[in-house]
Amino acid sequence: MIEEAGAMLELVQRIFLIAKADFTGKCAPDLKLESVLGLDPGWLDSNGIKCVIFDADNTLFPHHAGRAGSKTLAFLKSLSRKYRLGIASNAPNEARVAQLENYFRAKGVKIAVSRGKGKKPLPGQFEYIAKKFSLKPAQCAMVGDNLFTDIAGAKLAGMKAVKVRPYDQKSEPWHFAFMRFLEKALE
Ligand SMILES: [Mg+2]
Repeated sequence: MIEEAGAMLELVQRIFLIAKADFTGKCAPDLKLESVLGLDPGWLDSNGIKCVIFDADNTLFPHHAGRAGSKTLAFLKSLSRKYRLGIASNAPNEARVAQLENYFRAKGVKIAVSRGKGKKPLPGQFEYIAKKFSLKPAQCAMVGDNLFTDIAGAKLAGMKAVKVRPYDQKSEPWHFAFMRFLEKALE
């Protein structure tokens, strides 16, 4: 019962944050890309970025795929030579967080998976990664496919935000369609 009340309170907090976010102003993405592979170190450096935080589902791989393609893995490996890397996913439970962590470790990609409190756009996950690497929010860039969770959350947390196209929109559950419709309307 207490757990349910906590989940409901978190949902209300998330909806409130989204409702007051200014998607065409302060909460608009700083950059839009086709995919994570287009992320340019020149852009990161000119913005003073030391850490790149990625969303997982439909950013690094299709929805709930849990494994990345060889191009994405190679890109992350090369990026990790110069930048700290993190993942902030609204994974449903600890098992999925551990699965992501184990998967990337097995593939030799140095990337920290957030265990911050609350789902995006709440600030917990973003702050967890920045704190882990002793960086200020302004030194971090979030890369994600979702305007309402990844982009608005990162901007409200004081980070740069890069919006990518969903990796494979067909991989999403049907109820994501409404969110994508609103996203398009705000573009
Ligand atoms: Mg996503």
